[in-house]
Amino acid sequence: MRRVSILGATGSIGQSTIDLIARIPDEYDVVALTGSQNIPQLIKDAIALHAEIAVTSDPSKLDELRDGLAGSGVEAAAGDIALIEAAARPADWVMSAIVGAAGLAPGLEALKQGTTLALANKESLVTAGPLLMSEAKRLGATVLPVDSEHSAVFQALIGEDISAVERIVITASGGAFRDHPLDALDRVSVAEASNHPNWDMGQRITIDSSSMFNKAMELIETKEFFGVRADQIETIIHPESLIHALVGFNDGALMAHVGPPDMRHAIGFALNWPDRKHVPVERLDLAAIGQLNFRAPEAARYPALAIAQKVMEEGGLTGAVFNAAKEQALDAFLAGDCGFTDMARVVDRVVDVMLSREGLQNATITLDSVNQADSMARALAVEEIAKIES
Ligand code: NAD
Ligand code: MG
Repeated sequence: MRRVSILGATGSIGQSTIDLIARIPDEYDVVALTGSQNIPQLIKDAIALHAEIAVTSDPSKLDELRDGLAGSGVEAAAGDIALIEAAARPADWVMSAIVGAAGLAPGLEALKQGTTLALANKESLVTAGPLLMSEAKRLGATVLPVDSEHSAVFQALIGEDISAVERIVITASGGAFRDHPLDALDRVSVAEASNHPNWDMGQRITIDSSSMFNKAMELIETKEFFGVRADQIETIIHPESLIHALVGFNDGALMAHVGPPDMRHAIGFALNWPDRKHVPVERLDLAAIGQLNFRAPEAARYPALAIAQKVMEEGGLTGAVFNAAKEQALDAFLAGDCGFTDMARVVDRVVDVMLSREGLQNATITLDSVNQADSMARALAVEEIAKIES
């Protein structure tokens, strides 16, 4: 029996992970399941999977969780410390699927047991890539990428030497507004931005896909995870979302990973690694698909890509600043406090202001320094957003 924990179990990735585990319950011993607001889902899954403990990050939800689990034998806990303790419970495989910067500390904690960390939480790599990767190495833990593009690159690199890689091409659907009139982008609604052409995901990552901030995060993630240079990473618009990434080698070969837009593939790959086992995703009918399309991303439509380039070049704590400003701008867009195109302006401005202050690029990356940069960037973003409103 493999002991598995799922951090962010109630979300889109968490539920897809549970779908795979629940199909073969005899193979898994579920340790911890964590969530935040959706307590009925957390209770239902914790009982069905006989989890040891269920944790909500929100202390005001503890009574509801405790009541729902009464008599089930599943422990209940709440709050950030309980979340860290749940991540620290001995497990062979831990899914890191909390959304946002909140996923970093529990993921780092899970590494301490030398476990395999299946990393969906891209913010961990964007905010603290060097810390996460060096901690994994130091602790003898394994980090496996679960973002579909990075799982694709990882798979294309099996048996290859990273020094033979010339470039990594990350595909992007182009999001909800790839064909939207450019001059109307500033007026799009939250509902319109929450619509992904191909993938069914959580709301925050879906809006980040519309703005291409998701792809911007993924470029940084690529640099941090695979240790390549910023100038080796490219983005291509591929509206069908069937090729997830391509790896170009020094002999000119370009290896593409093709699969249906279903996160259970990347999750299943990480769950079964280093083996390959059956994963219940659709098998592609290439004749029915007929053709695949590609086009270059327009800089004016997707300003997030240029910001990502700057973040990768500057390094250090720039990623933590970028992510925090992006999360704050997204909160403001969701709350109706700023427009869709304001998000990139706010993030760019916050990154520039913070970069102009000494030390961001060369700072040591620790959980504390990341949290500090995160708070400063959020405060600056709030100021910038207030300027838009006035
Ligand atoms: P989601 O919003 O559907 O779920 C997020 C999970 O995190 C939920 O379980 C929620 O309860 C929990 N959570 C939210 N705020 C929290 C907090 N402050 N503290 C602790 N827990 C909290 O998100 P998702 O779409 O499943 O994405 C999860 C992560 O995976 C994100 O980092 C996302 O970028 C990444 N990712 C998602 C997809 C996808 O297809 N959904 C694909 C690639 C990468
Ligand atoms: Mg992705």
